[in-house]
Amino acid sequence: MIGQDIIARFSALLGPKGVITDADDIAPWVNDWRERFHGSAAAILSPASTQEVSAVVKLAAELGVPLVPQGGNTSMVGGATPPADGSALILSLRRMNAIRSLSTDDNLAVCEAGVILSVLHDAAEAAGRRFPLSLGAKGSATIGGLVSTNAGGTQVLRHGTMRALVEGIEAVLPDGSIFDGLDALKKDNRGYDIKQLLIGAEGTLGVVTAAALRLVPAIAARAVGWVGVDTPADALRLLRLIEERLGDAVEGFEVIADDGLGHVLSHIPGTRSPIETRTPWHVLIEVDHADTSEPGPAARLEDALAAAFEAEIAIDAAIAANEAQADAFWRIRESLSESEKAQGPALQYDISVPVAKMPAFMVDAAAAAEATFPGHTASSFGHLGDGNVHFHVRAPKGTEDGPAWIAAEGPAINRFVHDAVVAAGGSISAEHGIGQMKRAELGRLASPARIGALRAIKAAFDPYGLFNPGKLVPLSDEA
Ligand SMILES: Cc1cc2nc3c(=O)[nH]c(=O)nc-3n(C[C@H](O)[C@H](O)[C@H](O)COP(=O)(O)OP(=O)(O)OC[C@H]3O[C@@H](n4cnc5c(N)ncnc54)[C@H](O)[C@@H]3O)c2cc1C
Repeated sequence: MIGQDIIARFSALLGPKGVITDADDIAPWVNDWRERFHGSAAAILSPASTQEVSAVVKLAAELGVPLVPQGGNTSMVGGATPPADGSALILSLRRMNAIRSLSTDDNLAVCEAGVILSVLHDAAEAAGRRFPLSLGAKGSATIGGLVSTNAGGTQVLRHGTMRALVEGIEAVLPDGSIFDGLDALKKDNRGYDIKQLLIGAEGTLGVVTAAALRLVPAIAARAVGWVGVDTPADALRLLRLIEERLGDAVEGFEVIADDGLGHVLSHIPGTRSPIETRTPWHVLIEVDHADTSEPGPAARLEDALAAAFEAEIAIDAAIAANEAQADAFWRIRESLSESEKAQGPALQYDISVPVAKMPAFMVDAAAAAEATFPGHTASSFGHLGDGNVHFHVRAPKGTEDGPAWIAAEGPAINRFVHDAVVAAGGSISAEHGIGQMKRAELGRLASPARIGALRAIKAAFDPYGLFNPGKLVPLSDEA
């Protein structure tokens, strides 16, 4: 555990507001969102400016104190959870929460790392623009965390992941130097792209203090539909049919297994199924227009769905009649993780395979997992058009001790699912990153070239291993 003498040195830099040592105030930030990882930290350092971050990082380097950068602590892979032995301090960016500028000429918002995603959404909307990335944790996840995990969400099909939306970055590197890359140049060939290295680095290469983010035109009209289908293969046929008719107006296309819908209806008050028929699979579709030209998105979606019924792809469908209903459809999708948590213990896999292989993977891998681990149930939901779903294996009914179940069955189930993903040519982390949860599996499954490059980059940026130790980069005995 880090001693009071060291904490006093940081307090001298940051003042009383910048160092939290009260155990009750620290407690919510040392465990991960899924409550799978439990850490310990003697203090949370909470600088209020880039200069303060730089001073903290310099002092940490001088004292050899490891730092765990943290935003909203919504990581799904224990990425922001400090080590359990108390050997690191948390470096929270939540006080750096200013939107420094928002320009409709440049279509850019420059946000400090601690800006919460939904706050940026509101600010962009007030300026007649929008930031086209959203996810279930939008009320807590911060720009720094989203950049550092290269977050995805429900609009990747049309707008890409964070990597496609970050035009510039300001960061403090492990020696305390400030990398000022907020210029957002369209063309810049000064060699290695430091910005791209920091995106998705999970706090292992430095601290993101601000980002210049691309905005797009506000939505003038949208249609949100819910379609019941028989199989994921039909869902993919539906996506292609809709794309043929509506082009890149398709903003969201989410596939949900019927059991996932059932969990939401059971655990989230005020939710109801958008369609009457309980079909094996469901699709949530959003179609957006930036103008109000006719025919609008609802009429165009209706036409496309008529074709889907004719082609016997759709079994039942509903188009939201108003904004409140549209939000209610999306609420079901956004409540899936929360409702599953209420349902009981589960192991979650955020995986990708080539899009064309995904429908078969969703069905075959679930059947194989259920056959291999009797009593367990498996299903998936997510971004079929991106070739990315959240594949979940749930403990047998009545399992009360989740941690004991994970300790007993987790390693075998992890290997089983990850081996299936790799056999299908996919990735064991599509969106959530590696964190501490998938580090050993990355070591087991990644090629020597990938692991060698990861280690070399880490060593070049952070030679003393002080940034987010134990995350992302496999340890020497894990590869
Ligand atoms: C209900 C729910 C739904 C979710 N849905 C999605 C989804 O659809 N798609 C998706 O991609 N993710 C999703 N996530 C995961 C999560 O929201 C994202 O990973 C998010 O980007 C994390 O942001 P955060 O501010 O909470 O970061 P944290 O959890 O605090 O940190 C995440 C990682 O980034 C690092 N980090 C944080 N801030 C900084 C910084 N300023 N500089 C350097 N490193 C930093 C941390 O060290 C850690 O490694 C979901 C999470 C929840 C709880």
